[in-house]
Amino acid sequence: MTTKEVIQGELGLGKVSSRRIELRLRFWGKIINMKEKNRLVYKIYRQRREDFIRGKKKDKNNWCYWTWKFLKDIDLEHIWESERFEPGQNFHNLVRKLIKKRDEDEWRENMRKRSKLRTYRKLKDRLVLEKYVLELEREQRRQFTMLRGGTNKLRIETGRWEGEREDDRVCNVCLSEDVENEKHFLLACPMYVNERGEMYERIKEVCELEIDQMNEDSKLQILIGIGWRNKEKEIRRIVLSYIKQALKIRKKFI
Ligand SMILES: [Zn+2]
Repeated sequence: MTTKEVIQGELGLGKVSSRRIELRLRFWGKIINMKEKNRLVYKIYRQRREDFIRGKKKDKNNWCYWTWKFLKDIDLEHIWESERFEPGQNFHNLVRKLIKKRDEDEWRENMRKRSKLRTYRKLKDRLVLEKYVLELEREQRRQFTMLRGGTNKLRIETGRWEGEREDDRVCNVCLSEDVENEKHFLLACPMYVNERGEMYERIKEVCELEIDQMNEDSKLQILIGIGWRNKEKEIRRIVLSYIKQALKIRKKFI
């Protein structure tokens, strides 16, 4: 099962509730800035706001509570207090940006707690849709997500199911003492050295990039992360072909 945080990350989704919060805050902005102050909705709002303040901002059943709290959560409490701001698109954009940032912070915090997201955390920092999700076919997309998101059949993950210590989840393909994690599979396992060499050669041709000279983290970023310049699509195709071949070899040994 792909981790919730990975799905959220790959699709670039904020929290489901965020859209509603955004709409609520917009609506609130509209009420505050109504030109006709004698309209019923405005009058009711003023009344409820007074009640809310009188109750020391504790009454969760008061409509004002959630508007106040959501604004407070995104550091705009002062706007709730002063009611002084430019209504319209600027306000909407600001609210959207701050809610997105809050979602991102929360998402990063959740990722920090999950050991299987060791690779993913390095690859992904922003909540934006990954192009490969739209580009690739189902099976390829699945493989790519599995490698990025840590939900895969490598020993680092299956060993976890069996309760092994992380250091003990070594590679059973090359029988080295190296842990079989995403990095080992992609960049290091000697059993796929030919396939890897071919992958680097092809990338060298397409990107004019000496990828084999780079450090591990940069390689990882180029292969299954941000890619390289505008060649990400080609790189993905090359990497997928490596994955396919390597998995075929791996299957023979495990
Ligand atoms: Zn190995």
